[in-house]
Amino acid sequence: MVLAQLGGSISRALQQMSNATIIDEKVLNECLNEITRALLQADVQFKLVRDMTTNIKKIVNLEDLAAGHNKRRIIQQAVFNELCKILDPGKPSFTLKKGKPSVVMFVGLQGSGKTTTCTKYAYHHQKKGWKPALVCADTFRAGAFDQLKQNATKAKIPFYGSYTESDPVKIAVDGVETFKKENCDLIIVDTSGRHKQEAALFEEMRQVSEATKPDLVIFVMDSSIGQAAFDQAQAFRQSVAVGAVIVTKMDGHAKGGGALSAVAATKSPVIFIGTGEHMDEFEVFDVKPFVSRLLGMGDLSGLVNKIQDVVPMDQQPELLQKLSEGQFTLRIMYEQFQNMLKMGPLGQVFSMLPGFSSEMMPQGREKESQAKFKRYMTMMDSMTDEELDSTNPKIMTESRIMRIARGSGRLVHEVMEMLEEYKRLAKIFSKMKGLRIPKKGDMSSL
Ligand code: GDP
Repeated sequence: MVLAQLGGSISRALQQMSNATIIDEKVLNECLNEITRALLQADVQFKLVRDMTTNIKKIVNLEDLAAGHNKRRIIQQAVFNELCKILDPGKPSFTLKKGKPSVVMFVGLQGSGKTTTCTKYAYHHQKKGWKPALVCADTFRAGAFDQLKQNATKAKIPFYGSYTESDPVKIAVDGVETFKKENCDLIIVDTSGRHKQEAALFEEMRQVSEATKPDLVIFVMDSSIGQAAFDQAQAFRQSVAVGAVIVTKMDGHAKGGGALSAVAATKSPVIFIGTGEHMDEFEVFDVKPFVSRLLGMGDLSGLVNKIQDVVPMDQQPELLQKLSEGQFTLRIMYEQFQNMLKMGPLGQVFSMLPGFSSEMMPQGREKESQAKFKRYMTMMDSMTDEELDSTNPKIMTESRIMRIARGSGRLVHEVMEMLEEYKRLAKIFSKMKGLRIPKKGDMSSL
């Protein structure tokens, strides 16, 4: 996961400081130097890092701290707050109104994940009762319209584009008009990208923006962009009125600190992050839980709250413990299927998770989903205890897969499909690893 290394380094620096017997100027400086190094290594812009450490030093005036104050806590809180400040532009986030047609324009470099993100954004809102539509005003990249069409069809979202018209402004205007007439309340315009920032791209963006008068412009940025992020984000902002940022490929191995810098450059909030190629690998971005996670405290606080709300008390500790240890075994998956079939409280909890609900239990197709769970469970019945309790996918050898297929009267490819599903869910649950489980009601960070 992007930024995991940064989070680890910062947590270690804070931990080392906590281990010191006395926290004096020297210890604080060492800690801040470590944090500075970690942030720079993760590609956060130098000026941001310098401002952050200056602010922390200002807030944490060791000499002024009255005796009895918990200095460690104050320092930790200052680091937490400063990181939040980098990510929070301090601007109230805009609101689009359901039922009233809003135009949202997406901009970004080619390959940043713009087209994929347009559909994810539309799909996310569609699930929340909006009536989205997609307009492909990217006439630069061959195949852009086909890609958008394919994604939109899959998500059952209306789309507009042209194979023959080469003027992106005309397509954008026609598309927006068409969907306004159809009473769509979220009209998403995908614009062209380029391999690099160039005048033609910005000019085209400006023209599309002037013609369609978007209510919101979203800048899409690949998390692996590195130190170039600040300048790139600023260049886009200077051409169009960027109002929000979406950072993609947060599931990759990039250092990701550039994403932090982009917020500062655009002075706009990150509103979502992309965590995979799949339509629902898309998460609402919240600064505080994100920074909590960065500091090794987990960001699934909402989920933990939910588990604590609805799971019977006696089942909570074991489940949370296992998840926080990063143990999402086939047995846990089996038990959750059982729960879902009963539609017990755990069913509600797990159906809340990204990747679980829409994929595993598409609306209106509950019967099919139930049949699938039962099929998967039959296959898991043919597994050994070791296999069910393992978190190592390597133990599922070819011969074991064939045996399981035979044992359950299923086909090999069905067993493989079930194991793929398991891996996908394990990836989602792996985010809970290292999660510090707070007491109920104590979700405040640090
Ligand atoms: P565009 O040129 O900016 O429109 O980019 P595309 O939407 O075509 O995306 C470029 C590539 O990035 C495609 O292969 C996408 O599947 C992939 N992609 C987009 N978002 C994500 C993400 O959040 N995670 C991962 N792993 N891949 C992504």
